[in-house]
Amino acid sequence: MIGTTRASKLLIKGGHVYDHDGDVHRPPVADILIEGGRIAAVGTDLVVEDSHETIDARGHLILPGLINAHYHSHDVLCRGLFEELPLEMWLFYTLPLGQNRSKEEVRARTLVGALESIRCGITTVQDMLGLVPLNAEYTDVVLSAYREAGIRVVFSPMVADLPAIAMVRYNESLPSDVQDMLGTKTAPMQAQLDYLEHQFRTHRAESTLHWAVAPFAPQRCTPKMLEACAALAQKHDLPVYTHVYETKGQALIARELFAEHGGSLITYLGNTGLLGPRLNIVHSVWISRSEMDRMAAADAGIVLNHLSNLKLKSGIAPVCDLREAGVRLGLGCDNCSGSDVQSVFQAMKMFCLLAAVSEPEPGPGLAREALHHATIGNARTAGLDGELGAIRVGWRADLVLIDLNDVAYLPFNSAARQLVYTEAGRGVDTVIVDGRVVMKGRKVTTIDEDALRREVAALMRHFIADYDRVVESRRRALPHLLQAHRRVWQSQVGMNRFIARTH
Ligand SMILES: [Zn+2]
Repeated sequence: MIGTTRASKLLIKGGHVYDHDGDVHRPPVADILIEGGRIAAVGTDLVVEDSHETIDARGHLILPGLINAHYHSHDVLCRGLFEELPLEMWLFYTLPLGQNRSKEEVRARTLVGALESIRCGITTVQDMLGLVPLNAEYTDVVLSAYREAGIRVVFSPMVADLPAIAMVRYNESLPSDVQDMLGTKTAPMQAQLDYLEHQFRTHRAESTLHWAVAPFAPQRCTPKMLEACAALAQKHDLPVYTHVYETKGQALIARELFAEHGGSLITYLGNTGLLGPRLNIVHSVWISRSEMDRMAAADAGIVLNHLSNLKLKSGIAPVCDLREAGVRLGLGCDNCSGSDVQSVFQAMKMFCLLAAVSEPEPGPGLAREALHHATIGNARTAGLDGELGAIRVGWRADLVLIDLNDVAYLPFNSAARQLVYTEAGRGVDTVIVDGRVVMKGRKVTTIDEDALRREVAALMRHFIADYDRVVESRRRALPHLLQAHRRVWQSQVGMNRFIARTH
């Protein structure tokens, strides 16, 4: 049966309940009572007198739902179509493939991404969606697909009033037709802001829908646009996400083209009113140490995406320096064609392993920290701290039950370490979002998977024909982009970080 209603009371009995502040290796057994979408009680041998549904969680580990703090649903259908390309070249293909799609495609791609996320224990996605054109019809389709899937979404359609070509350093050296392929046009600023205002009013944040403001990237926005985004976030009390310092080219753009802001995109964000507790910058591979310190002082956050940073050859975010600077951190999985998976387990593992790049001494990364970032840290990016990210009374009931019979837990020595280093997603058995069971016994109850598979197969005939056309039309242009890319890498900007850490 597809579709579930939420039981008024749900009792989860006898699971090992993960507590960030408790024994993260062998969490004790407890019961959890859910009422009205929130956790009503956590304790041993809870008794509920009136009518309720019960889930037997013996032999299961119960986690707060994982949150993916950086995701784009617009290129889900591109999964597996790319490798080898650095970010700026990859954008050259993926940007056009996410634009002007049919409503059927937009619905299907949203559901596929939601399905993958649920199966991997993700209960919230931060969808920084590139909607082209930016209109109400598409938005209705996306939000209704999320509602149908039952996953929580922090929705932020991206806005920008400078064209995509502004992402590329030395773009002036590209032939004009290559510049056009990357994008030399954009929608007027006011129309985009009006769209956002209208959407915030039309689809009120409630239950599993939350909003965020997402200027695409500082170098793609005029000061006026960033100031307007800051005002909008303030007015509606919303978090802000924006891509910053993903590639070396972007660091070079900052140093050379933003001289009036001290050569820093963080200063630019500060000068336009965005540097503060609402702000989350995504990636930060090429951020400097002094910029990290300013981010920490402003209580601004950073969302790390190691998987896509490596696949798209951007580099490795400086995990140890960020930790030392005390910046609040979140973790994301990024695009389906740039990582190519929605797995917070993989993101957590990368976070722990990549610390070794700059820190050979015994110490972090630590699994319990990764779990904290992927839950409480990610909730904080969305302004949902105190609501999501831990199993506590009064908090929202987003939970994941992990089957401890999976071989990843044979033997079961440490919940935190085995979740981060061993779990491949196989153990995810049951998923609850806002008190509603969306997956039970590995069956997603909200989505007809077979029907979706058929739908996608039919849509892909047209999509792959488009992909072939895009690849063919860009073949001649690629060497020009490669040349600009090589020029960027000849610069010494930021390189010292990859040689040694400054203690
Ligand atoms: Zn992104």
